[in-house]
Amino acid sequence: MRLRIEQDVFVVRQLGREVARLVGLEVQDQTRLATAISEVGRVMLAESREAEVAFTIASNGVPVLEVAVRNPVPGDAARLAPHLGQVGRLVDTMEVGDEETGTVVRMVRRLPASAPKLTPERMDDIREGLAAHVPGTPLDELNVQNQQLIAALDEVRRQRDDLARLNAELEETNHGVMALYNQLSEELEETNRGVVALYAELDEKSVQLRAASEAKTRFLANVSHELRAPVTAIIGLGRLLTDPSSDSLTEEQRRQVELIRGSATDLLSLVNDLLDLAKAEAGRIEPNWAAVDLKAVFGQLRGTLRPLVTRPEVELIIEEPAVTTLRSDEVLLAQILRNLLTNALKFTAAGSVRLSARAVGDDVEFVVADTGTGISSELHERIFEEFYQVPGSQALNGRGTGLGLPYARRLAGLLGGALRVESTVGEGSTFTVRLPLS
Ligand code: ADP
Repeated sequence: MRLRIEQDVFVVRQLGREVARLVGLEVQDQTRLATAISEVGRVMLAESREAEVAFTIASNGVPVLEVAVRNPVPGDAARLAPHLGQVGRLVDTMEVGDEETGTVVRMVRRLPASAPKLTPERMDDIREGLAAHVPGTPLDELNVQNQQLIAALDEVRRQRDDLARLNAELEETNHGVMALYNQLSEELEETNRGVVALYAELDEKSVQLRAASEAKTRFLANVSHELRAPVTAIIGLGRLLTDPSSDSLTEEQRRQVELIRGSATDLLSLVNDLLDLAKAEAGRIEPNWAAVDLKAVFGQLRGTLRPLVTRPEVELIIEEPAVTTLRSDEVLLAQILRNLLTNALKFTAAGSVRLSARAVGDDVEFVVADTGTGISSELHERIFEEFYQVPGSQALNGRGTGLGLPYARRLAGLLGGALRVESTVGEGSTFTVRLPLS
């Protein structure tokens, strides 16, 4: 379109809006583009009395509408540019340039993704529609502009209201967050105070517990000690009564005295066990560190335990130790192993009880394995508690006190090692003592 008189500026504005609409720009962008074109047209016309506007659809990767406004005055760009400062904000890009035949203002606006596809047929339709476009009067255009201005003002007010509402909401949220933060801080502080108090209480409790445990140990040691003398006396007196050189007893009296002696013997072994354990717990056992000859210890055990093997179905096997010496306490080590072997013989009806020793890293492992009743896994720790005996477990000889394993574990600890068990009910048990070589 050529611009020659002022009225043409209104017409090109209408035309620009119509083009923008037909190629799919949104309503606001239609107004922006129409405003930009009419402004550029107005400036060009005022400066050079003649201008020409051309619309092109091009593609910069995405489809764009390009509007070029030319005048026939070469070298006019530098003079025009300052008048067009605001226009650039209404389109994506705007350039003012000099060409051979004149000056050109080129504006580009990207088409939205939602715009209809501009096929050659569609372009023909658009051209036809534009040719048929009847321009309105300047008054009509003024009317349209007024309407657009009112709509724009409305939009601005709506956005301002929205902003005020958002601000209010934000402030409220801030209040909420602050309140939550304060509440959390308070709760945290309170919890901290609680935890500190709890720790203090725990400390106090553990002091009390230690005191109670020491008192128990002292009590056990004293009571056991006091009991040992009278019980030993009872056993002695019983032996005297049944001695052939004493006055003869009736059969019934002899049976009763034997009962008394049996009970007293049981009681003495309980008292001895208690005393041992109490001593170990009180830290009154001081290991006597020396080189221990394992061959000798094993030989001794072989001799002392043989009498306890009362059933031909059970074989006691004391292997030759694979390690010959270690630094430890011979008496305490022998006590641990005798304890484990005695237990194994007590709970094995048939099969074998086997003792072996081998080096494992810097340690020696003593293994006492039997093919006896076994212990179910949930009791593997409980059997190391004082007085605990597996319910229903039937020792094959002797009643036991439930103090042997806790004592053995204590001693293993005193010797710098540990005692553990692996066992399956019906298959047997394996107790392993691990002690440092030196
Ligand atoms: P006890 O004097 O009763 O043998 P211990 O502390 O030595 O006391 O053992 C505790 C319990 O652990 C035993 O009563 C028995 O139920 C179980 N126990 C210990 N050794 C064995 C074993 N080799 N086989 C099966 N059960 C065992």
